[in-house]
Amino acid sequence: MRPRALSALALGLVLLVTGCGEAGKSPEKAAAPPSASASPSPTPVTKPSPTHTTPAKPKLRPLPKKLPAGLHRASGSNGVALTFDDGPDPRYTPQILAQLRAARVKATFCVVGKQARRYPELVARIVREGHQLCNHSWHHDVNLGRRSAAEIRSDLERTNEAIHAAAPKAPITWFRQPGGRWTAEEVTVAKQMGLRPLHWSVDPQDWDHPPAKTIIKRVKGATRHGSVVLMHDAGGDRAQTMAACRHLIPDLKRRFGIALPR
Ligand SMILES: [Zn+2]
Repeated sequence: MRPRALSALALGLVLLVTGCGEAGKSPEKAAAPPSASASPSPTPVTKPSPTHTTPAKPKLRPLPKKLPAGLHRASGSNGVALTFDDGPDPRYTPQILAQLRAARVKATFCVVGKQARRYPELVARIVREGHQLCNHSWHHDVNLGRRSAAEIRSDLERTNEAIHAAAPKAPITWFRQPGGRWTAEEVTVAKQMGLRPLHWSVDPQDWDHPPAKTIIKRVKGATRHGSVVLMHDAGGDRAQTMAACRHLIPDLKRRFGIALPR
């Protein structure tokens, strides 16, 4: 009972940190741990004292009601900006790179520091093939913006260091907060570090594993000139995203042009 409940909780936590989706169906809701009543016990279970099981919670500032000012949510040109989050990933990042190369377009990769440290050759390849880098925090901390300025800075610096260990001198143009859970304080820290805060305007919620045709429909329905499209090349099974992109990349290129955000 206990180990099972614990592993369910651990799974919930793992799922909690995946995905960049914003409003509507949040990853948090999708990842609610299964109810403990799923396997009822005839005898009451003594609950352990919370003081022994719950680690001290760090103080988090509240999330603002609306997104803070200063976020880039448009590509800055007529073209559409493609952004791929949570990688690099050895299975999917090379697939996206091959698709982009075949279409002769460039994209922005919002990389997670731990992934960059683990797969430096993929970071180097992203840069070598002319794509843009975006810092996406060290371990995809959806609450990073709610922490102290010093903690935010140290997380972003650590991530930049992992990226530069893989691709020395590569420009890191952007920062994107995981989950889009921005705070004004975080925007300030990112800007102080020379990282421009990159949000998005089109979110097909591909992290939630909809079928490729749904991802295509959502992106095509919402994309306009100057859109920034959020998709994922890591963080789970991205087969449907890969399949959707085989259609979307040539289609968006033909209709709007594909450009790096600026
Ligand atoms: Zn993300």
